[in-house]
Amino acid sequence: MKFTLKSLAYPFEALEPYFDAKTMEIHHDRHHQAYVDNLNKALEQFADAQELSLEEILQQVSKFSPAVRNNAGGHYNHQLFWDLLSASGKKEPEGDFLEAIQQSFGSLAEFKGQLKNKALGQFGSGWAWLIVKADGTLAVSSTANQDNPLMDLPTVEQGFPVLGLDVWEHAYYLNYQNKRADYVDAFWEVLNWESVEAHYKKGLAQLQKAL
Ligand code: MN
Repeated sequence: MKFTLKSLAYPFEALEPYFDAKTMEIHHDRHHQAYVDNLNKALEQFADAQELSLEEILQQVSKFSPAVRNNAGGHYNHQLFWDLLSASGKKEPEGDFLEAIQQSFGSLAEFKGQLKNKALGQFGSGWAWLIVKADGTLAVSSTANQDNPLMDLPTVEQGFPVLGLDVWEHAYYLNYQNKRADYVDAFWEVLNWESVEAHYKKGLAQLQKAL
């Protein structure tokens, strides 16, 4: 078993009332677990993949099967998502990261509006993203299903994922039903900007290594 599911760093009810405990439990213990199990199963036919990290699999996902694409994406995307959330995290970005947001989008409010548009504009299941691109600028994008900005696919805008917002109905339907916009608004209340900033720095470091 190559990949395993980590426990959440907080209890299921920690993000109430924004993200309800039942949704968190089902989302982590059933949906994310299924991506991990199905990824391990899908990788059985690719002996070479044993050497690869999850990021490396995404970066060359076009060589693999659709099952690897869906489940490697599902595993990476959810790991990132859980890591971004906290009941008591930093509520605003600051410093160099805030400046980068202002340079790329004009203002924090404009960035939030653009991410919301991506989240609402994604037809059906998928993700809305903040990515850092090869030129160091930030951009918003969206992907279908469990696709991810690291994937070498023509339908994906490439970049390093800094923030990912799950817009599958399984992420919000129990609490918000069809009101995806209300779920997006709630996301900002449980987003830990310290974690977003850490992923931004990780992306910048990776880009520098690649140059
Ligand atoms: Mn999900």
